[in-house]
This record gives sequence, structure tokens and C-alpha cells, in this order.
Amino acid sequence: MTAPLIDPFARPISYLRVSVTDRCDFRCVYCMAENMTFLPKKELLTLEELDRMCSTFVRLGVEKLRITGGEPLVRKGIMTFFEGMKRHLDSGALKELTLTTNGSQLRRFARDLVDCGVRRVNVSLDTLDATKFADITRWGRLVQVLDGIDAAQEAGLRVKINAVALKGFNEDELFTLQAWCAERDMDMTWIEVMPMGDLGNEDRLDQYWALNDLRARLAERFTLVDLAERTGGPARYVRIEETGQKIGFITPLTHNFCESCNRVRLTCTGELYMCLGQEDMADLRAPLRASADDAVLEAAIRAAIARKPKGHDFDYSRQSVAGQVSRHMSHTGG
Ligand code: SAM
Ligand code: SF4
Repeated sequence: MTAPLIDPFARPISYLRVSVTDRCDFRCVYCMAENMTFLPKKELLTLEELDRMCSTFVRLGVEKLRITGGEPLVRKGIMTFFEGMKRHLDSGALKELTLTTNGSQLRRFARDLVDCGVRRVNVSLDTLDATKFADITRWGRLVQVLDGIDAAQEAGLRVKINAVALKGFNEDELFTLQAWCAERDMDMTWIEVMPMGDLGNEDRLDQYWALNDLRARLAERFTLVDLAERTGGPARYVRIEETGQKIGFITPLTHNFCESCNRVRLTCTGELYMCLGQEDMADLRAPLRASADDAVLEAAIRAAIARKPKGHDFDYSRQSVAGQVSRHMSHTGG
């Protein structure tokens, strides 16, 4: 028996988020600069390497894989990777294979994803207004994403909508977005904007809309019932009694969720970030490429997990962004 991955604070690591590309067909203002320089292709893990990496994590006890990016569905040949991961679902080692996507390619891939064993997808959507959508994503088209969501639901995927809460941008859509999701039987999660990447032009502090305010506004109109559900991540959930809908709040900045953290993140170049809010990472690409023997990779993974920190240092409370990390979200995968 292979010993499972347990970090120094006795937290079992059962959840791996994998960024499969740093590229994207959108340029969301809070995520990327308009003229991003992307990594040379040779820096990226190949599809075979991604398979070997994820399979090793699964062997070490990872039960949930979330594929992200960049936009995971713009990575060439990505369905080959999903097809490969299906064997771990079939064997029962992997409990869930899922992805976070901007939805633009779902019309093309929804059915294939279902065939690969994917049951749920998170689609990021901050507004239902076509003009605002074009503004926030710079390159995106709302109709294409809405059509992608239709395709996903037609294919039988359960869709959850993720929206970044942005002051002065989607505050006025709180109820329309929620009603639209309820109509389509979709849960929804609000994400607090995080101080990632280059603050330069877009000042994240200006855009910061605290989720306790958002929640209070929802509570003026609906009965919110706290759910005990914990995912090991920064999300907390309520049920809206009137609609039965589940609403999540991801508040990495205002709540401390680190004590139950069960996850690590792999970038598309094979760097393992043990904590979203810290700079420390372990290069797993070198050990992966150094030897065909997975024991070398396994030892590197165990050494990395032994360095997982207790928590992160994000803090907006002093009206300055302490603990800011310089990576873009598209690099580590949100
Ligand atoms: N392209 C896919 C998508 O948009 O869903 C997957 C990658 S994207 C980096 C993952 C999530 O991170 C998205 O829901 C996005 O809205 C969120 N995100 C990006 N930058 C963020 C930031 N600065 N603060 C909070 N969430 C952010
Ligand atoms: Fe692309 Fe997702 Fe980042 Fe938007 S949030 S630019 S869709 S990676």
C-alpha cells in the first residue's frame, strides 16, 4: 500500500487542481493583461506528462481533480487527457473529474466531457449584459458562453456558475443573476476578487466588494440557511429557502479557511503550489523528466507536501494589499 499524502499539519491532500494551459481566448481584466506574453510551448507539460503527473497524484490518494487554466478547453488535444483520466474514475481511485471553464468551448466539448466521466462543470460568468460582458472579458462574447451553458445542460452536465463580485460592476445584477440561475436549476458561487497578478492599471481594491455585504443584501429578500457542507476550500454555502438553490461564497481574504485545506495546485509547467497565497513552490517537471521511474516523481511530491505552509497572508484589512502574490490567476489556475 502506498502511504497517502499528509501534510505537516495532519491535513490529508485529496484534491489537486491542475492548470493545463496559461492561454485563454478571453482577457478578463482582473485576471490577465490585454497583451499577455504566454509561455513557450516547450515549457508546458505535454499531455502525456500531465497524465503521468495526475496519475501519480491519484495513486498517492488524490480523489478529486479539477482541470483549469487559462482556459482548459483551448489546450490542443485536451480531450485525450480527459479520456486518459477516465480510467481512474473507472477504477474507483478517482471520485471526481471536473473543470472550471469560461464556457466558450462547451458547445464543442460538452458531450465528449460527459463521455469521459465528467458530471459537473463550473462556468465563470460575471454578468448577463452583453456589453458589460465584452468589457470585463475584453475578448469574450456573451452569446457564445450562454450557448455553451445550454450545450452543457443538454449533455446532462450539472452547471455551477462562478461570478467574481465586483463593486460598481455586477452589484446591480445580484438578483437577476441569482434568478437566472434558479430558473435554470444552477447553483451559484460568488468569489471575492483576489489581489493576484499585476495591480497596475486595474486597482483590485477599487473593485473589492465584500461578500458579507453581498450576503446581507441577499438576506434582505430571501431566507438564507447556512449549510454545514465543507469542501476543504474557501467556500461556504447557504441554501435559499424560497428557491432551493445553493449559493456559495468564496472569501479567501476575509475568512480563514486554511485549517481544513486539502488541496494543492499544479501549474501548466509542472510547478506545485502548496498554497494559493504563498510564493513557495516545488518544481515537479524536473523530476518527472529526469526519470521514467515514477518513484523519483513520487519522492519529489512527498517532499513538496512536507513543505505545505499552515496558511496564507492575504489581507485587505489595512486598505493595502498585504501578502499580494505577483502571479496571475491564469498561472496557478483559479
Ligand atoms: N478560464 C477558466 C474560467 O474563467 O473559468 C478557468 C481559469 S480562471 C483563472 C478560474 C477562476 O478564477 C474564474 O472563475 C475567474 O473568474 C477567477 N479569477 C480570475 N482572476 C481572479 C481574481 N483576481 N480574483 C478572484 N477570482 C479570479
Ligand atoms: Fe481566461 Fe478564465 Fe482568466 Fe478570464 S478568468 S482571462 S476566462 S483564464
